[in-house]
Amino acid sequence: MSFVLHVDAERWRSSHARAGARYPGVVPVIKGNGYGFGAALLCREAQSMGVSTIAIGTYVEAPEALAGFGGDVLVMEPYRASIHCDLPDLPNRRLVHTITSRTDLESLRGVEPAARVAVEGLTSMNRFGAPMDSLGELVTAAAAEAVTLHLPLGTGHLDEIARFVDAVLAVQRWFVSHVSPDELATLRGRYPDHDFRPRIGTDLWLAEPASYEVKAHVLDVRAVDKGDRVGYRQRSLPAGHLVVLSGGTSHGVAMESPASAATPRSRAIAVAEGVLEAAHKVRSPFTVSGVTARFAEPPHMQCSLLVLPRGVTPPAVGDTVTVRMRLTTTYPDAVELH
Ligand SMILES: *Cc1c(COP(=O)(O)O)cnc(C)c1O
Repeated sequence: MSFVLHVDAERWRSSHARAGARYPGVVPVIKGNGYGFGAALLCREAQSMGVSTIAIGTYVEAPEALAGFGGDVLVMEPYRASIHCDLPDLPNRRLVHTITSRTDLESLRGVEPAARVAVEGLTSMNRFGAPMDSLGELVTAAAAEAVTLHLPLGTGHLDEIARFVDAVLAVQRWFVSHVSPDELATLRGRYPDHDFRPRIGTDLWLAEPASYEVKAHVLDVRAVDKGDRVGYRQRSLPAGHLVVLSGGTSHGVAMESPASAATPRSRAIAVAEGVLEAAHKVRSPFTVSGVTARFAEPPHMQCSLLVLPRGVTPPAVGDTVTVRMRLTTTYPDAVELH
């Protein structure tokens, strides 16, 4: 295996325990690429954490979640009659469906009269959900076991959540996303008879970046002269070394989700990277011989070509180098727990 996510299991797991203490009643979110670790591993972790419920992103993820985790599985994408009505897992008694409209509710209950339902409220996130003024009606029609709320990132959600809770006070269980530990504590204090369940992904699985690391193998190293050409695009190189590393677009290298560029600094970085890109000098996520090496050309599917400037001692074939990547867009060949 050549592009590997290494995990210090003890350290990683103790960060889960700390996250569980910060977020009582935590509902681990297991979706997409499993935050780099893979859904199967995260299901096993959630099982051993002893939580009652996990949350998944889509119905496509349901079979693996139901097989890998023994408790309840909340599907966060809304059930849509026109998209999901034929799925074989719909009647599973451990699935909790997210409903946002009467039509979808009727379709789901037509397929499975006993289907378990949470109703999603339309928050300022403005993604999907039932508007606040029709939420109560839908909750009653569905005999919903919970309401779900997805809030934008940041804090300051308390008033918005409170308006929802006041609108449908009869519902006890509330699945909430992107609510801070302090906000949760305030909500519990204000509504002692309600059960707030925070859905947490990043702050659980990626809470301790020092507990995991992606490493790539060096596949080849060659001294090059100024003007030597390389790759699909036959770009000319500076003098130094060409280093071929495992890890390419299929592993998510250089495929990061778009930067939100919210701050002047991140906008400046985005502009600087754009200028570099135009000059074919894109910084890679690989740290080679202590420097952040540049791509010689855009990464290939399974490997990347980097240039090390003259004067930098190159690594040897078979060495490993560290890779700095956002794990939500990383697809390692293997995950190794040590
Ligand atoms: C992805 C997702 C989460 C988890 O988000 P993190 O930022 O990874 O904690 C929570 N709620 C919903 C609805 C989501 O889609």
